[in-house]
Amino acid sequence: GLSKRLHCVANYIKKGMKIADIGSDHAYLPTYSVKQGIASSAVAGEIAQGPFQSAKDQVDHAGLGHLIDVRKGDGLEVIQPGEVDCIIIAGMGGPLISRILERGKDKLPGVSRLILQPNIGAEHIRRWLQPNGWSLTDEQILEEDRKIYEVLVCDRGVPEHPYNEKELLLGPLLMAKKGPVFIKKWSAELKAWEEILDHLERAQARPETEKKKQELLQKIMMVKEELSR
Ligand code: SAM
Repeated sequence: GLSKRLHCVANYIKKGMKIADIGSDHAYLPTYSVKQGIASSAVAGEIAQGPFQSAKDQVDHAGLGHLIDVRKGDGLEVIQPGEVDCIIIAGMGGPLISRILERGKDKLPGVSRLILQPNIGAEHIRRWLQPNGWSLTDEQILEEDRKIYEVLVCDRGVPEHPYNEKELLLGPLLMAKKGPVFIKKWSAELKAWEEILDHLERAQARPETEKKKQELLQKIMMVKEELSR
């Protein structure tokens, strides 16, 4: 079956949506969501030859070639404007996901939902959303095989108030829920940052380390404040 992580992503596809899964690898997500009758059709985009071939084999094997189109290419270049309602980008880092969205902006008119699943650096995505006319509808955090993943569900519109630095880092909706996985993730991050800070404090004073120290201290304070709330 589908992993818990991809299941969580698939849960946010609205029934009948035409989806594009960018960086689809084995095309597990499009295959599952079309087979289940959640998505009405799908484009599976892949940049690399090996995963592209796996995706094609998977779709052929499932007999879904008439509903899922596997295309080779970089980011959103595989879709036409107005072709899909929902774009999914999962299993990559936040900086790469936001770069793909930024470079593919011309493909976004007509898209009503983005489901983004960064493995790290979700804050890069949250920073991109606001100036580009998207806001967070829901956020999930989950643990699978000792790894922690975030899922960001984004619809068109502006948030009630602009996200502040703490919300950009931690996620406004994840902060509000404050579940056990959230606490686990940020407690571990906090510990790691405090160790780095400790090392920096022992190191010889240099202008670069001073800047890094200030940034770390600011993040440590934000996370500490949130965990003790
Ligand atoms: N989305 C699947 C998932 O969540 O299980 C696969 C994740 S896999 C770790 C990342 C995939 O994205 C790889 O197959 C990689 O080749 C592909 N990829 C990376 N950069 C890409 C880009 N710019 N455009 C399309 N695919 C890309």
